[in-house]
Amino acid sequence: MHLNNKNLSKKILSWYDNNKRTLPWRISQNSKKKHYYRILSEFMLQQTQVKTVIPYFKNFVKKIPNLRALSTSKEKKVLKLWEGLGYYARARNLHKTSKILIKEYDGQIPKSFVLLKDLPGIGDYTANVLLALIYNQPRIALDGNVKRVLYRLFNTNVVDAINLFETKRNGDLAEAFMEFGALICKPKNPRCNECKIKKICSYYTSKKKIRLKKKTKIQSKSYDIFCYLKKNKRQIALTKNNDLGFLKKFNLPKIKEKSKRNKKWKFLCNYKNSISNKKLNINLYYKFSSKIPNEYNWYSMNKNNEFIPSFTKKIFRQISYLYQ
Ligand code: SF4
Repeated sequence: MHLNNKNLSKKILSWYDNNKRTLPWRISQNSKKKHYYRILSEFMLQQTQVKTVIPYFKNFVKKIPNLRALSTSKEKKVLKLWEGLGYYARARNLHKTSKILIKEYDGQIPKSFVLLKDLPGIGDYTANVLLALIYNQPRIALDGNVKRVLYRLFNTNVVDAINLFETKRNGDLAEAFMEFGALICKPKNPRCNECKIKKICSYYTSKKKIRLKKKTKIQSKSYDIFCYLKKNKRQIALTKNNDLGFLKKFNLPKIKEKSKRNKKWKFLCNYKNSISNKKLNINLYYKFSSKIPNEYNWYSMNKNNEFIPSFTKKIFRQISYLYQ
């Protein structure tokens, strides 16, 4: 069956109007907060699911209510609000971007793809999505979710040439595709029976259905973590001086890629930790000591005002058994 794009846009939009979720960043097109809410949510949603983002977004806008306030906030505060959401480079880039937007663009998101892509943390996808959602530009943001929907609808693995925009509601259409992929045309079990567009879906109507490419398997890697601890104080020595790319500049104990057993350290436990797009297999070692190398500082494992990544907090939880 030949797919009529106009018909498709109309049907997806009508499904969206009746089924879209109420999300805190979906606010009126006329709202002054629109630019801030959209850029903040798009940064948070990179690599992270909607349901995880919602409480973080709500808390963030409560503490930092607009772009200007973000641009004048301390990085420490921004990271603290991001704590637990992971991929902390996003928080740092958003913070840098907010300063540029206030200084050079009067607090507005630029309307040009090229200018947007010049901002820290904004790639093709985020630039497209912001232009569609904020300025109603005819752009589709092709993340894995939307690609999958289009692959299926057209029963093809090439979607670049598909022209989908024969509508005045370009922003809504971009969002409708994302929502449709998240709620109906799901990765493993698409809900074809209740799908409102199944009659015009080539995947549904074809006998020879395309196979979607499988995600590449994430490799797991082994690390040894060595913790200096104070005997009676629930304190741990941390350093920002580590060469682990994915946790650079954060407070961590000493970490090495799997090394030979070192008898000076006591083995505590082995556990798994997923971080960013890595699976880590961790062996945790410790030693009680009052002396630590220069680049380390003592931190309390009870409560910390400073930002501590969840990777390090997980280490705290394992160590807390030693103090019980
Ligand atoms: S019919 Fe099935 S495969 Fe086609 S768009 Fe609907 S949910 Fe996706």
